[in-house]
Amino acid sequence: MTLVGLRIDVDTLRGTRRGVPRLVSLLGERKIRAGFFFSVGPDNMGRHLWRLLRPAFLLKMLRSGAPGLYGLDILFKGTFWPGPLIGPRSEEALRAVALAGHEIGLHAWDHQGWQRRIAKMDEAEVASLVGRGVAELTRILGQAPECFAAPAWRVSAAALQALEPLPFRYRSDCRGNSPFYPLLRGGSVSKIPQIPATLPTYDEMVGRICNRDNYNETLLGLIKTDAFNVLTIHAEAEGISCAEMFAEFLDMAAEREIFFCPPGELLEGRVLPVCRLEESMVDGREGLLSVQGKPEAWPQASVT
Ligand SMILES: [Zn+2]
Repeated sequence: MTLVGLRIDVDTLRGTRRGVPRLVSLLGERKIRAGFFFSVGPDNMGRHLWRLLRPAFLLKMLRSGAPGLYGLDILFKGTFWPGPLIGPRSEEALRAVALAGHEIGLHAWDHQGWQRRIAKMDEAEVASLVGRGVAELTRILGQAPECFAAPAWRVSAAALQALEPLPFRYRSDCRGNSPFYPLLRGGSVSKIPQIPATLPTYDEMVGRICNRDNYNETLLGLIKTDAFNVLTIHAEAEGISCAEMFAEFLDMAAEREIFFCPPGELLEGRVLPVCRLEESMVDGREGLLSVQGKPEAWPQASVT
């Protein structure tokens, strides 16, 4: 049997209100629990898409069918006026996720703002934005989120430092191959384990290494029994335009004895190496991402 950590990123108002309930029912029918990471502040993702209307990005949009994936209305959210706040408009959807027993994480206060400005933000700004997100999720759910996943797999040295005092049980800020403790600025080691995403996302695969028809088969082929597996899906894609395909994927996985769990459960009983976080390109994705470096010469530590 193979275990896969399932991480669900929720970037937009539409993804939260439409994609999340669909995923909760798809997973519930199959008794699968996952980790949901919510964006709860302004939905400015339209601004992000316009900014990225460059040839390479257009090509990717066409390849992966992004207008169909995200809905045309996303192009206008936050473009000409401030985007709507997601949290107050999605309280019911968020509470249903907690009630179903999934891990609850924070993804962003302002997803687009983080993507655009993270390299320039100082510790105080990161702490303030993440603090607003934590406060909003706590207000809605009556409890603080237990984990955090940086938008677009991007953290800076300042962000790592700013996130350190926050009481997250784990964070998932990067791509990599196994959980680890990241090295911080100044040479100390983080007390919060990182659980990297190990598998490519839908939009990184389709039109590059597969098409929609053989997507499920291709992704199942990338899940390895002897490896640490974490899959990231998006409420906007697998919860809406690709929902039927994703349901099929879950059933095909079950036939092959591939099972899913919240990422946090993969930490139990593990001894983790210390690794540096580096920046690198990832096939099928724009710009630099945070990626797990090679293990450092540092004593390994058990997860406490
Ligand atoms: Zn995201």
